[in-house]
Amino acid sequence: MIQRLSRRAFVAGSLSSVSLPAFAALPSNPDVIVIGAGSAGLAAAKTLMAMGKSVVIVEAADRIGGRAYTESSTFGVPFDHGCSWITAANNPYAKMAKDWGFELRNHVSPGEAFFVGDRRANASERKKYDTSWAKIQGALSKAGRDGLDVSAASVIPADLEYSGISQSWIGAMDWGVDFKDLSTKDNWESADANPNFMVKEGHGAVVARLGDGLPIKLSTPATQIDWSGNGVAVETAQGKLRAKACIVTVSTGVLGAGAVKFTPELPDWKQQAIDDLPMGLLAKITLQFDGERFGFTSDNWLTYWVPEEMPAKACYFLTWPFEFDVMIGFMGGAFGWELSKAGPDAAVDFALGEVVKVVGSKARDHFVKGHLTGWAENPLTLGAYAAARPGKYGARTELARPLGERVYFAGEAMAGAHATLCGGAYLSGEAVAQQVAARI
Ligand SMILES: Cc1cc2nc3c(=O)[nH]c(=O)nc-3n(C[C@H](O)[C@H](O)[C@H](O)COP(=O)(O)OP(=O)(O)OC[C@H]3O[C@@H](n4cnc5c(N)ncnc54)[C@H](O)[C@@H]3O)c2cc1C
Repeated sequence: MIQRLSRRAFVAGSLSSVSLPAFAALPSNPDVIVIGAGSAGLAAAKTLMAMGKSVVIVEAADRIGGRAYTESSTFGVPFDHGCSWITAANNPYAKMAKDWGFELRNHVSPGEAFFVGDRRANASERKKYDTSWAKIQGALSKAGRDGLDVSAASVIPADLEYSGISQSWIGAMDWGVDFKDLSTKDNWESADANPNFMVKEGHGAVVARLGDGLPIKLSTPATQIDWSGNGVAVETAQGKLRAKACIVTVSTGVLGAGAVKFTPELPDWKQQAIDDLPMGLLAKITLQFDGERFGFTSDNWLTYWVPEEMPAKACYFLTWPFEFDVMIGFMGGAFGWELSKAGPDAAVDFALGEVVKVVGSKARDHFVKGHLTGWAENPLTLGAYAAARPGKYGARTELARPLGERVYFAGEAMAGAHATLCGGAYLSGEAVAQQVAARI
């Protein structure tokens, strides 16, 4: 029982010490154009520049960081809309955050308050939950060891009591997809999430710091990449840029929606790879209270029983991170998409209703306000992160294959064992930049 207690997180603290990055002047004839100033794009640009190459980063949004985004206006303290845990060994952000003076909190073994209805689970219920967790992890591991790339739903024991909770944690909330849509190979190949840390000032704030000194054009969406000639010509909302190569770091959601056109068109194998790596959804519904703790301790999880039928209507909460007065609800997969479509008011109503079921109507008396993250409909992401369709794990390698040695691809979807993760996106950007530098 480790990963459900450790993989994703949230943050609080004071943002006042985090200054906005100062961008560098833009070179007029860059060697490389990087599309997207998220974790992968920033890492790619930094690496290229360290290797003596000139770069321009074009970013569609009016800020950098992409899916790494901390702001403090919603709750008065740093709130990560996207990534919040720095997970797994070799995650470059752990060192960066320490070197830059961010406050990290080890979150490897937080506690868990497990409820059945309006009361804490008894020993027998807890045992059933633990048993189902172990059986499901065992079945997934066996499929992985056997080299299977099939739907996770097809390998777990049928009619397993209390399995709805584990499926919600591992599928919907960790991978952003339900078990039927989760590739056993994707799951098996992913790195252990430990060690993992929460960042008081926000994971997004660490990523934003990377932008310091980089040549970034904000509010400049790339609309077309012409790779018919020797180099590339990138059409943007602010005009055309030419370079020897470009690195595309937008999500598979954005690629799949055709927001960036390619001339010539993407070959079938590349389009297929994009189609085989659709975006899953993890969404956060954050509830702020007036200081009442309802008996829950800081940095713990609140989990409750849900029926075995999928998709379960599960929203599990990280309670009072860094002692801040919020509970961060996590939901994902089909239910996450459905509730996101219903909108923030419906999502907040649902999440508050779940807390009321557990602690009673006093939750309403102490409720201040709620918030739903907008990754589902954000046109610059169109989901949280990519999950390979069952049987299509190989699409991750195909997605990373360059076109004509001048259009390269990087990002979380191509991060191998660190796929879906912000640190993985960084490593992917860094590795692709090294390839590009060697090539040009
Ligand atoms: C809710 C949530 C929770 C998460 N939790 C964690 C976690 O705890 N730990 C963890 O490690 N990871 C977590 N992740 C995943 C992590 O945030 C991502 O894997 C990572 O940030 C992706 O980085 P990237 O550079 O690949 O893509 P992005 O961050 O998406 O960067 C791509 C950039 O391209 C820009 N762009 C899009 N279209 C265009 C265009 N046409 N032209 C120019 N620019 C464009 C986008 O605005 C964006 O800035 C979470 C994600 C979400 C959504």
